[in-house]
Amino acid sequence: MYKQKRTARALFIVFLVFTVVGLISIVAYQFVPQLKDYHFITLGAALITCGYAAVAFANLYKLISYNEQIRSLYVENRYNLSRESLFYNYTMFEKRINKLTKLHKKSGSYIIAFTASKRTVMRNLYRNGTVTQLNGFISDSLNEILSHNKQYEQDDFAYCYYHGQFVIYTYLPLNKVQDIILNIQKEIYAIVARNDLKVYTIPYFGVADVRPELSLFECLDNALTARDYSEKHFEAETFYSDDLRKDASLSEVEELREAIKNNEMEVYYQPKFHLATKRFVGCEALVRWNSPRYGLLAPGRFLDKAEISGLIHEIDMFVFKRVCEDLASIRRKGDRMLPVSVNFSMYEFYSQDFFDNISKIINKTGVSTSLIQIEVTETTAQANPFMTTSILKKLKENGFRILMDDFGLGFSNLGNLNRMEFDTVKIDKTFIDGLITDAKSREIVKFLIALCKTNNMEVIAEGVDKVEQVEILRKAKCDVIQGFYYSKPLPIRDYQDFLKNNPFEKKEEAE
Ligand code: C2E
Ligand code: MG
Ligand code: MG
Repeated sequence: MYKQKRTARALFIVFLVFTVVGLISIVAYQFVPQLKDYHFITLGAALITCGYAAVAFANLYKLISYNEQIRSLYVENRYNLSRESLFYNYTMFEKRINKLTKLHKKSGSYIIAFTASKRTVMRNLYRNGTVTQLNGFISDSLNEILSHNKQYEQDDFAYCYYHGQFVIYTYLPLNKVQDIILNIQKEIYAIVARNDLKVYTIPYFGVADVRPELSLFECLDNALTARDYSEKHFEAETFYSDDLRKDASLSEVEELREAIKNNEMEVYYQPKFHLATKRFVGCEALVRWNSPRYGLLAPGRFLDKAEISGLIHEIDMFVFKRVCEDLASIRRKGDRMLPVSVNFSMYEFYSQDFFDNISKIINKTGVSTSLIQIEVTETTAQANPFMTTSILKKLKENGFRILMDDFGLGFSNLGNLNRMEFDTVKIDKTFIDGLITDAKSREIVKFLIALCKTNNMEVIAEGVDKVEQVEILRKAKCDVIQGFYYSKPLPIRDYQDFLKNNPFEKKEEAE
């Protein structure tokens, strides 16, 4: 990307030089009588033409390289995602649709969104790996049902796995869409029976027509809304209509939108304790909604809605900006300043403007990037390992530190862990919860810590709330601990007070 940008920029400079020299020649021809014999007008015009040719070539070069890059991304993505090969992330999905729409040159397309069961069922099954297994089977079957089916063309479809839901964009007419839904439905039940999966499946579908006046993101949101409606009203399938928006759950999205506008979002900070030096070494920024109506709400209560509605972008940017502003203010006051880690949703992380957006805030606040750690969940990183590697590289080159969050929850490819250059890995609370009572969890945690150490990565254990857990982790050579045992997430002022005066560092100093 950089190489082609540089080449395009060089060609643009050629354009400027040629155009300026061309203009000077024409002006010289007008005002210096001695030059009348030389054909400066022709020379000037020729130079300007060369300049324009350079710009045209620069654009063409950029376009060709860009298309090649996209093609190679597809190949990599297919390879890396293996089982879920059909289902790309949102960015790739959008690019494929742009390409296909040009090819089809006709209106009348539809988006189908579905899950194999209720969201809560899927979430509960996530931890023991059944959902990953089930989704893998569904993805493989869809490959058979749709991609390899002679009735359809490959170019009739684009696929995406978006926030735990399968999404299919199709150019087929509505009656075929109905057939497809029926086939998928049958296949999901068959998969569960065939593989003896212990899952209570009731697939819910949502369909939305693609409207030219709406963006792809809005049309996708309509399909997800229709799917949610199906689940809520126990219907197998719902076709989107604007009336669905009047549903109570959707007014919650509007409420959230208002809350962001009214500055009801706040940032809390949870300290991290370094076991070897016995000092606090950083903190994690966590968003809260301080609602006048419901009180202080943790992200679990509203992030789902924010992600589906796209409001997550505003929330993530708000948190990042507030963190930078707080750091700048701490620096001005000369208070104790520790690095802060910030969470970003998958949507934000893969968005094309992600790096530019955070860079703007960094430049505006003058905060050093070394004070910011970007938390990327394992699931986000695994969604597109190839893109993740290049995004992380760029962030690291610019001084940010990178942390893998919720490690152990995703379908880990340990090879990728090594390749992705994370500075720190945070072991998920699920494993920490079992530390005291469950020998298996204890062994897993020890193994994960050893694995990270072999890869020269710092290890954090999160969700630690008991002294016994701290002792087990200390023996297992865990580096840093974050959890209620040390402190709950605190508003900025309380957090700064805590750093000045807390029983943990004080006790260690006194020893
Ligand atoms: P996470 O990034 O894994 O954050 C850790 C969560 O564990 C936080 O919950 C924290 O309060 C909680 N926690 C920490 N120590 C303990 C403990 O000892 N016991 C218990 N029971 N819980 C503990 P929180 O603040 O509710 O955040 C939940 C999730 O919401 C976060 O998980 C993160 O994925 C997401 N989130 C939070 N802030 C943001 C944000 O600004 N942007 C995005 N995109 N996601 C965010
Ligand atoms: Mg986190
Ligand atoms: Mg976490």
